[in-house]
Amino acid sequence: MSECKGVLVVGEKDTVRETLSKATRGVVSVGRRLADGLSEHLSAVFIGDNVKDPAEQSIRCGCDRAYLAEHGSLCEYDPDLYLPVLQKLSEDIKPRVVLAPHTALMQDLFPRLAYRLKTCVVTDCIHVELDDRGAALLMTKPIYGGNALAVYRCSSSPHMATIRTHTGLSAAPAVDNQGEVVRLDVDTDLHFCRMKVTNRIREELNGVKLEEAEVVVSGGRGIGGTDGFEHLRELAMILNGALGASRPPCDLGWVSSLAQVGLTGKMVAPNVYFAVGISGSMQHLTGMYESRCIVAINKDATANIFKFADYGIVGDYRAVLPPFIENMKELLERKV
Ligand SMILES: Cc1cc2nc3c(=O)[nH]c(=O)nc-3n(C[C@H](O)[C@H](O)[C@H](O)COP(=O)(O)OP(=O)(O)OC[C@H]3O[C@@H](n4cnc5c(N)ncnc54)[C@H](O)[C@@H]3O)c2cc1C
Repeated sequence: MSECKGVLVVGEKDTVRETLSKATRGVVSVGRRLADGLSEHLSAVFIGDNVKDPAEQSIRCGCDRAYLAEHGSLCEYDPDLYLPVLQKLSEDIKPRVVLAPHTALMQDLFPRLAYRLKTCVVTDCIHVELDDRGAALLMTKPIYGGNALAVYRCSSSPHMATIRTHTGLSAAPAVDNQGEVVRLDVDTDLHFCRMKVTNRIREELNGVKLEEAEVVVSGGRGIGGTDGFEHLRELAMILNGALGASRPPCDLGWVSSLAQVGLTGKMVAPNVYFAVGISGSMQHLTGMYESRCIVAINKDATANIFKFADYGIVGDYRAVLPPFIENMKELLERKV
């Protein structure tokens, strides 16, 4: 443990914009805080093809060093290729803490990496901090469907955690920060690859990505069917937002399962979150409670969602939404 030093962030690029992903920027800010507390350095590592830009951006966001494992064969995530890179780097630089955003890729990669490094990992943390002596990392994560918080302390090293991504984490770009980019030698012996990509399914994206939207308009079982969701789509569109849903509308096929917000769906933290016909179960709240402003529309005045809402409208959404949308259109037109 004593020989371990520094914090390492395993970063990802935004595959659409080819830039540092928002989630990684958030984790860089967490890493910076820990590194400053330890008076040690912060590094990031990027694996893939064309990852120089995000690596350089990570330096501008606060990293002291960015490692680059760049190769054409790394463009597609394959644990058999990614793991040796990370294992070797971790063994060489011996970080005290290794962090990553809690994305689908990292959920797959981090437990494998922890096994190889003979340590443990705590996934989906909402907070990480050093203990009083700075010797151990305390990792907080929601458990029992978000009904309780557990704090974990790991005795092996490095301490590894994936961090739940939400906008509150976003690091402001520190444009003056200086650092170095170090290119890693990549041995890409494809003989070891056990995974083969057989098919690609493109996620249709109309408008803004749900996880990144400033406004999310979500509907629940109370919407009653696909037709009702058209109102929500319209509201999302005029506010340049994204459509979301609780689990039942996804399970019932009213909307794509990619719209699900919550414990087993996506985590969002927009400026404004509309919860329409949603009761406010713990599993749904887990995915959106960090929204800056929550507006709930529900015909049941005792619905749990109202306990968390900043603005609540008691009523049938079919009566509430159409005039609301018309007013909104008018206001937006006047603003233009
Ligand atoms: C392991 C596990 C994981 C889960 N993961 C998730 C998850 O990720 N996300 C998630 O959302 N759920 C999840 N769930 C399901 C969760 O427990 C709830 O069942 C679900 O969130 C309820 O969805 P709802 O609020 O849309 O439906 P309901 O609880 O049925 O609420 C519907 C609401 O609509 C209101 N309503 C009805 N008609 C109208 C109307 N015309 N106008 C206005 N309001 C109306 C009602 O008053 C009611 O409050 C999970 C459950 C489990 C066990």
